[in-house]
Amino acid sequence: MASSWFVVGLDNGGTKDNGTVLDPDGNFLVDRMVESPSNVLDGPEAAVDALAQCLDNVLELTGVSFDDVRAVGLDTPGPASAEGVISSMGSTNFSTPEWRGFDIRTALEKRIGRPVVYNNDANAAALYAHREHFGSTGYENSSVSAIIGTGLGGGIVESGRIIKGRNGMAGELGHVFVPAHDILEEGQPIPRCNCGFESDAESIASLTGIQINLLPYWLTRYPDHPLHGVSGAKDRAKQVRTLAEEGDEMSLKIFEQQAKAIGRLFTIAANFTDPTAYFIGGGVVETKPDFRNWFIDTVRANTTLRTEQAKTAVVATVPDLDMAGARGAALGALAHVLQP
Ligand SMILES: [Zn+2]
Repeated sequence: MASSWFVVGLDNGGTKDNGTVLDPDGNFLVDRMVESPSNVLDGPEAAVDALAQCLDNVLELTGVSFDDVRAVGLDTPGPASAEGVISSMGSTNFSTPEWRGFDIRTALEKRIGRPVVYNNDANAAALYAHREHFGSTGYENSSVSAIIGTGLGGGIVESGRIIKGRNGMAGELGHVFVPAHDILEEGQPIPRCNCGFESDAESIASLTGIQINLLPYWLTRYPDHPLHGVSGAKDRAKQVRTLAEEGDEMSLKIFEQQAKAIGRLFTIAANFTDPTAYFIGGGVVETKPDFRNWFIDTVRANTTLRTEQAKTAVVATVPDLDMAGARGAALGALAHVLQP
């Protein structure tokens, strides 16, 4: 084995954990998913055991000895503190009461006896997108990532490091207000977010936003649309992306509104941190090239940059989304070992 030490990345999800191994030069030792059940619904103790199992699995697969593991990166869905304490308000993934306020980072650290470095899943994906795009020049560059899923996750990387903020809540791009007056149609209701805000980025650019805000309105404009016949609001919302890929007019209007909202968000980011790159991740960019390119072009067209910024700015996608969490978590652990 070329290296004398390694870090591991563990990505915790609602049903599965995924693991990866990274050497100090930044090479990943696995190029695929190494998944095992996350047991999150069985409570914190079972879930921490499951993460330790995932660690064992990926070490066995790569032939790396646990003695050579310097640190472990962990990412989970939010909301959680910068140090990996699950929100006391609860969260979608960690729904049972014993999860509230649970310190998953410290629990895993005690369980395995190695330093554990925590990032939320969107921040981990942002770190990975940044590293993949900039390679060895990551420390000289900055980026902003928006990851469109059930909600809208975000991450801000400055000089190669994720910005966590005082409470771990930096980069919550989904809950940034975006001006919607020229996104919404005349008479279209102001979108609402589960966080309590109106007209924030997630209220438009997320699956939840489609389900509770955009689709109910657009169906009133298309009374003969086939989605009227589909029962279940969430199932209906999930079909919008497939329909958009097939060129369905109403579904494209929904994604155009999403792309405009992301563009507004990036315009705000341009004036906050003036990043080199703007990354878009999520199911919307894991689509057919025609649709994906149209979406990214629409985001770009709605991102207003100053002339100096436009010369160097890049709008690109978050690669390998399903592996991005574990890989980003590993990168977070590597940065911690190299520059504690
Ligand atoms: Zn919100």
